[in-house]
Amino acid sequence: MNKREVQAALLSLGFDPKGVDGRFGQDTKAAVIAFQKAYGLGADGIAGRQTIAALKQAIAAPQPGRPEPDKSAMAAPVPVSQRLGTVAAAPPPNAASLTLLATARPIDEIVWHCAATAEGKDYTVADIRAWHKLRGFSDIGYHYVVYRDGRIMLGRPVGQQGAHCADQGKNRGTIGCSYVGGVAADGKTPKDTRTPAQRASMLWLTQQLIGRHGITRVTGHNQYAAKACPSFDVGRDELGKLV
Ligand SMILES: [Zn+2]
Repeated sequence: MNKREVQAALLSLGFDPKGVDGRFGQDTKAAVIAFQKAYGLGADGIAGRQTIAALKQAIAAPQPGRPEPDKSAMAAPVPVSQRLGTVAAAPPPNAASLTLLATARPIDEIVWHCAATAEGKDYTVADIRAWHKLRGFSDIGYHYVVYRDGRIMLGRPVGQQGAHCADQGKNRGTIGCSYVGGVAADGKTPKDTRTPAQRASMLWLTQQLIGRHGITRVTGHNQYAAKACPSFDVGRDELGKLV
């Protein structure tokens, strides 16, 4: 990426360098710093290797991949909560390589979602990012995604407002978290498909985020929209009882 391309990328992501002229002045430096802060990078204002890699990823076109599952299932009512038995919070299998980013963005709530994917099937952040970009989002809408094996993956940098709950303005001031699953194997019926590993990681992640962001509410998408998502009642779940 040359200087002009860096400026064009910043501009397209909403960090205005005040001119795409190839000259790296104070305005471009300020835009680089704003981008770095939003993406949890060291904010030195220098478009080095890490910053350019993050810029490239942020502006990348959606990769052709697996088609998005049918989202119409989420229009059904929330399934009656199953008795799942208790699970203790536990660090995810990828805890050693996981870095939860800090941010100055005011946040007081976590909204849980499901990916609305069929029970028993694995999907990745790359899949969800591609679906969301095809819907016109700048990036994946969620900040964190919990895989079926319990791994916790970073989505959109937490310093950036998410795109997960436009209902009642809940993209603002919130962190959007999602688990892979949420629909029965038929692909049509909302179902709490959380594996024990997912439940343990979701509890752990929620505890970690409460501790670092001043969270006062843990909710589910279905509390704000006539949707099944995340296919269980967060208020009745152990997740909803952490604050
Ligand atoms: Zn949702």
